[in-house]
Amino acid sequence: MVVKDKACKECGHLTKEDVCGNCNSRQFADKYKGTIVIFENDNSVVADKAKTTGNGKFAIKY
Ligand SMILES: [Zn+2]
Repeated sequence: MVVKDKACKECGHLTKEDVCGNCNSRQFADKYKGTIVIFENDNSVVADKAKTTGNGKFAIKY
């Protein structure tokens, strides 16, 4: 069975862990509309629009 990523309620980071690797939050949402992957948060137009706070996989509209 595939474990679906959970979206951090604080920053949107997607993880299978119980603690967010980006902001250390333990609050997660199971439902989100889509995902984006950020490689260079500081130089990414997508990251700017989605207001992500780091590199990695993030949920949108969570
Ligand atoms: Zn987070």
